[in-house]
Amino acid sequence: MIYNYTVEELEEYFLKIGEKKFRVTQVFEWLYKKRVSSFSQMTNLKKDLIVKLEKQFEFGNLKLVDKMISADGTIKFLFKLKDGNVIETVFMNYQWGNSLCVTTQIGCNIGCSFCASGLEDKVRDLTSGEIVLQIIEVEKLLETRISNVVIMGIGEPFDNYDHTIKAIDLLNSPKGLEIGARHITISTSGLVPKIYDFADEKLQVNLAISLHASNDKIRNHLMKINNKYSLSELIKAVEYYVEKTNRRISFEYILLKGVNDSENNAHELSNLIRGINAYVNLIPYNEVDEFEYKSSSKPDTLKFYDVLKKRGINVTIRQEKGRDIYAACGQLRSKNMG
Ligand code: SAH
Ligand code: SF4
Repeated sequence: MIYNYTVEELEEYFLKIGEKKFRVTQVFEWLYKKRVSSFSQMTNLKKDLIVKLEKQFEFGNLKLVDKMISADGTIKFLFKLKDGNVIETVFMNYQWGNSLCVTTQIGCNIGCSFCASGLEDKVRDLTSGEIVLQIIEVEKLLETRISNVVIMGIGEPFDNYDHTIKAIDLLNSPKGLEIGARHITISTSGLVPKIYDFADEKLQVNLAISLHASNDKIRNHLMKINNKYSLSELIKAVEYYVEKTNRRISFEYILLKGVNDSENNAHELSNLIRGINAYVNLIPYNEVDEFEYKSSSKPDTLKFYDVLKKRGINVTIRQEKGRDIYAACGQLRSKNMG
């Protein structure tokens, strides 16, 4: 599929078939700027090159199967992929611009005990083109520009590392979607070796870590990935990331009633991340029918927030979006509609 190719990869292919490199610039312009839907619409290419491209590459698109609109303007799109799998993509409108939450896998193998996406085992990874097309299709459907991309939909992006990195390249490239790296956020449950790899990429993309616990006991229970990479290993990787990239990291912390939301937990969390250039995003839990977890009360949330604040931690409480259409983080699930 043509959207799976970065500029460099397509240049390599063009050189191999005896075409000039600048033709890639033309093809990218048709794909990412003029947004055509077939090779035959690329009218400044020679006929024989169009035929070659048609033979070599699928064009690729996502088929809209459903759309749900929330009272707050959040829109959940269901797209069907070529193989029949269905993915969810969420559009959110903020005062400062708009944001698209994209999916990276069909299902998720990390299986966190509070998350709807993990209810279904991973069926397959999305390709970089399938990730990028989510933005292109939504921009077309809404006739708008997406200013921010959050890689926080279904799946664990670092379990689909190479495709996700390539998708970031295509999002960020001046020849691609031209979305500034600082307008892209990627969230991981904490695949430690990949955090080191990501740090070494030296991208200016924002990295968010789904922490959700202040000690190993709670985290082992919530996120079985913690049995593999403990908090101390995770924090070490985060420190490496911050040092290597000079960027602030963000920690996501879902507040679960009676599980991780005591004042004691807030102090423990402050100790855990003390000295790290970080901010903490406190996330109201979106309750999932299949699980018993409850969202923390407003007063407990504020108490938790106050402790962190007093301990000198940068902290915000995340604004909820699209709750009425189950479009919030962690409520997305992929369903195979064959
Ligand atoms: N797999 C990656 C990215 C996708 S999940 C990760 O885990 O980071 C995106 C965010 O939504 C994560 O912080 C995740 O913990 C959170 N999340 C999952 N289920 C949720 C729920 N029911 N309510 C609120 N946030 C949830
Ligand atoms: Fe997967 Fe992230 Fe959900 Fe955990 S929180 S199951 S890693 S999508």
